[in-house]
Amino acid sequence: MTVRDTVLDRFREHFDEAPALVARAPGRVNLIGEHTDYNDGFVLPAAIERAVHVAARPRDDSTVTLVSVDFHSETQFSIDDLDDPDLPAWSKYPRGSLWWLQNRGHILPGFDAVIGGDIPIGAGLSSSAAVEVVMLELGLALAGAEMSQQDKALAGVEVEHQFIGMPCGVMDQMASAMGVAQHALLIDCRSLDVRQVKMPAGASIVIMDTAKRRGLVDSAYARRREECEAAAEILGVEALRDATREGLEAARDRLSSVLYRRARHIITENLRVQATALALGSTHGGGLKTAGQALRDSHASLRDDYEVSCYELDVMVDIANAQAGCYGARMTGAGFGGCAVALVDEGAVEAFVAAVGPAYAEKTGLEPHLYVTQAAAGSGVERV
Ligand code: ADP
Ligand code: MG
Repeated sequence: MTVRDTVLDRFREHFDEAPALVARAPGRVNLIGEHTDYNDGFVLPAAIERAVHVAARPRDDSTVTLVSVDFHSETQFSIDDLDDPDLPAWSKYPRGSLWWLQNRGHILPGFDAVIGGDIPIGAGLSSSAAVEVVMLELGLALAGAEMSQQDKALAGVEVEHQFIGMPCGVMDQMASAMGVAQHALLIDCRSLDVRQVKMPAGASIVIMDTAKRRGLVDSAYARRREECEAAAEILGVEALRDATREGLEAARDRLSSVLYRRARHIITENLRVQATALALGSTHGGGLKTAGQALRDSHASLRDDYEVSCYELDVMVDIANAQAGCYGARMTGAGFGGCAVALVDEGAVEAFVAAVGPAYAEKTGLEPHLYVTQAAAGSGVERV
């Protein structure tokens, strides 16, 4: 049974009638372009087949009843009192999107809804952005309003900044709202320009959750941001996105070895993102091989220059890269745990999954989770 069916069934069971609307928003994986977002650089995510769905029906009063399949929980609140701190924590993301819409002057009715999904929560596939975006889709439909997919994404980012209090970048919500089936998205994090990059036929995306929870990440993340700002200042550029390899070499004796390597990662990573987008989009064949090599190089750079990998990510990536049919693998996300991603030949995927999981478990004692996906469509809402 699909998640959509589960959510629809649960709605009928719980409210004893059919829903009027069902919205969907996917999670995402970043193929390449790590730690480049806050340097005004480039990222290349894709929406994945796993998604959050919400089925709903408007009510005549201002009550919202929200049932969560995955948290086995139900909550009720007034649409006019969205930031009540006594409400369950899981409902904060959905409430944030409703809050944002109200702040923009949209008139929302009360409604009954069931929310559920199959994006693993807290694994780095951005289930939170999916919840924000799916609730924006639903809220807009309930209000009879429309917004562009890009504006939905930017609204989701504001929910995360202003209602949740997480200073995230724009990638997650953009991928969730603007994804296109069989395409990755080349996002310029400075101009917010988005270009669709067609994925070559014959390859699958494999996401490999190391089951190593991200420790350390907040302090290290803040430190990397400071290091990047310091390096940009020495290089005389607004952001490392504007720095070049030549400029870096010319300034080498003015940079500490750490700042030099941090800047080198950002500069070369931006080049790898461009090279990957170009290779994937090329119609001449051989694109997957070139893209795969860029993924391998990205991992080495994140491990050695940026120093945000860890033992588990290195083990996973090494095992993946050694498999037949693997074009390339790398850590994805902020690092220190979480997921790796690989581009794998479709015909070799089954053997890849069968080999990588056990090999990783044997080396680390951790039980990994592997998810095979194609690049999927972005969010939407339909009347049912
Ligand atoms: P992630 O890395 O997956 O984005 P976060 O910690 O940022 O993890 O966000 C997880 C939060 O998003 C959950 O605590 C919950 O509030 C919300 N969420 C995610 N998936 C669901 C779901 N299927 N149903 C309800 N809420 C969800
Ligand atoms: Mg999140």
